[in-house]
Amino acid sequence: MNFFIDIATLTSMSGVFYTVLLVLLFLFWRQNPDIDAILWWCGFPFFRIINSLIASDTTDYVSDILIYAGNFSIILSDTLLMIGCIKFTKLRIQYKLIYGYLGLFLIICFYQFYVGADLPTRARYVVIFDVIPIIASIYALSHLSNAEYAMEKFFTIFWTSFQVGVFIFWILIDFEYSNMRYGPSIVISLTLVYLSHIFTTLGLIILTIAKRRNNLIFESKKHKKLEEELIIALEKAQFANEEKNKFLTNMSHELRTPLNAIIGFSESLKLRFYGELNQKQTEYVDNIYGGGELLLKLITDLLNLSNIEEGRVEIKLEEVNLQHLFAKTLPLLEEIVGHDNEKLIINDNIKGTKISFAVILDQIRTKQILINFVSNAVKYSDKNSIVIIDIDDVNDQFFRISVSDQGMGIAEDQYENIFKPFNRAGNDKSNVEGIGVGLSIAKNLIEVMKGKIGFRSEVGIGSTFWIDIPKSKQRQLPIS
Ligand code: ADP
Repeated sequence: MNFFIDIATLTSMSGVFYTVLLVLLFLFWRQNPDIDAILWWCGFPFFRIINSLIASDTTDYVSDILIYAGNFSIILSDTLLMIGCIKFTKLRIQYKLIYGYLGLFLIICFYQFYVGADLPTRARYVVIFDVIPIIASIYALSHLSNAEYAMEKFFTIFWTSFQVGVFIFWILIDFEYSNMRYGPSIVISLTLVYLSHIFTTLGLIILTIAKRRNNLIFESKKHKKLEEELIIALEKAQFANEEKNKFLTNMSHELRTPLNAIIGFSESLKLRFYGELNQKQTEYVDNIYGGGELLLKLITDLLNLSNIEEGRVEIKLEEVNLQHLFAKTLPLLEEIVGHDNEKLIINDNIKGTKISFAVILDQIRTKQILINFVSNAVKYSDKNSIVIIDIDDVNDQFFRISVSDQGMGIAEDQYENIFKPFNRAGNDKSNVEGIGVGLSIAKNLIEVMKGKIGFRSEVGIGSTFWIDIPKSKQRQLPIS
């Protein structure tokens, strides 16, 4: 008896909605390319389409080989569904088992082809081989433990299990192929299988969306917590920094008073205010005086740094003629260089017309920076080498003052640390005195003056440190 629709027609109709499901899944994957499970799931409707193309052959299954191919694509389709589910739930995939499983099915097909097995026997094998990956998919999905998307998980598992129910029904009634092909039970149950495929696919999509939403909520909570922790850590660090600055300020004040006394008294001894000194006494007094001066410089540097960090630097910006600046600063720099028998070369530019140009700066702070550059040039070079001071018209906005030496240079891996406080760029264990704050102070000061700082250096050849000072709009000021 012919029921209202035969299997071939039903199967060819199924090709249409499998195509819709495939497009849907593919578009969904394009939206979520990081979830590769979706791409595997695309294989599920894809191989069903292949099967429906084969099984819709209305010429009464003329080609046996094609039926075998259709059956294999059914198994492939559910195997890909299973791989997607395993990937989605982050279980470990045993690809060897999967290859073995597909291989076993192929061997059975070849054997059935060889012995000419009848259609019901072959159909039974397809159903049995198909149930296993579906059960594995259900097993994988049941591993999703989060209660936040329990409904979506239940929905998907329900519809995936639904077709297992139909398959079990088929195995239990042990159908005859002739009845199965046209009988109402097979048409109804096949329709139910297709229905379960539609809902399974939709279930996978909504489950993925729910999981993604849940992950986002979790991530945002995590970020919020992290943000709170960061704020607390920042507050603590700020507090510690304030305490450190307070300590440095107090300590420097406390130290400077006795230190000034030591320097003052040793200086009066040096100047022989209280009579002549013998050779040993002269040597010791010089040491006391030199050590005192050095200590005072270090303490002053520390105080400067803590003032800068506290934002307590007072800058007095004024329009100044470069020549005026150099007239006041060069004698000081010459003295620093002269101390160690080195030579300070003042480039002709400085003596030329360019220096009548006006810049905007704080004279005392600029002098402080140049002193630091020149002292470093002396400290980190051999005796009797030269130090060059130069200026350059960089562009419309800046004039550059640079200090070059022929000293030891700076290794490239230290470049990024050079302006960080307390960084000695590899000189921590050297005999050269210093605490690594001079350049950091210089950087802070020039930046407050809206200028820039920079350097270039080559190990064994020498270094050039420069500051770019903003030009005044007035361009030129009378040379005083
Ligand atoms: P300090 O000289 O007290 O260590 P600075 O902040 O002035 O501190 O300099 C930081 C580091 O940069 C120095 O310890 C030194 O290693 C390196 N440096 C600075 N100027 C020069 C230079 N002209 N030549 C070689 N190295 C330099």
